[in-house]
Amino acid sequence: MQESAQRRPRPEETRAWESLVAAARRTVADGLVVGTSGNVSVRVGDTVLVTPSGVPYDRLAPADLTGVALDGRQVLGTLVPTSELPLHLAVYRATDAGAVVHTHAVHATAVSTLVEELPLVHYMAAALGGPVRVAPYATYGTDELAAHVLRALDGRSGCLLRNHGTVTHGATLDQAYDRTAQLEWMCRLWLTAASVPGRTPALLTEEQVAEVGQRLRGYGQRP
Ligand code: 13P
Ligand code: ZN
Repeated sequence: MQESAQRRPRPEETRAWESLVAAARRTVADGLVVGTSGNVSVRVGDTVLVTPSGVPYDRLAPADLTGVALDGRQVLGTLVPTSELPLHLAVYRATDAGAVVHTHAVHATAVSTLVEELPLVHYMAAALGGPVRVAPYATYGTDELAAHVLRALDGRSGCLLRNHGTVTHGATLDQAYDRTAQLEWMCRLWLTAASVPGRTPALLTEEQVAEVGQRLRGYGQRP
């Protein structure tokens, strides 16, 4: 779908693009994806800036800014938007997300092949809204996958995609990114504990995790 730009980017879109490119590069640097796998988006008003499909993140320049309207119509740039556009747009339509991050993080993807839900091995599940579900498998880039993901995200800010990877969203790009990092870390933790022969990891209850959810609202420094 090669369409020409219909308007010039606004200053806040140019700034958001810089942050988006930095976040996309970080997914590679942090080992959450390999090559051009994964994708990142950020919402600026009614426009969603997205990584273009199949373009190495270290090659992305200011002129590559790619933006779509919430109905998927391309309004900025000429590069083909990410193939997971249906998934990103479905999240923006259904939630108040400001950013969405999709990766193929290895421990999270391994866990997606083993369980229906990430066992409550750590209280940081609360940062994602509770027990993290695994969305059923569907081919990448399809409306079917987007629908599975939306169901798995109900009441959560992250989920796993069976035999595929992760999706998280947040108010900001930093928050969405941090949730992906926490999710991958928790998956690694569970795999590590669950792989000790003859032992089974102790798990938290949903109540214990919900209590942390309340507490995390006041976590960190005063605003
Ligand atoms: P894009 O390069 O089209 O964003 O696809 C990568 C991906 O992870 C598809 O699921
Ligand atoms: Zn993917």
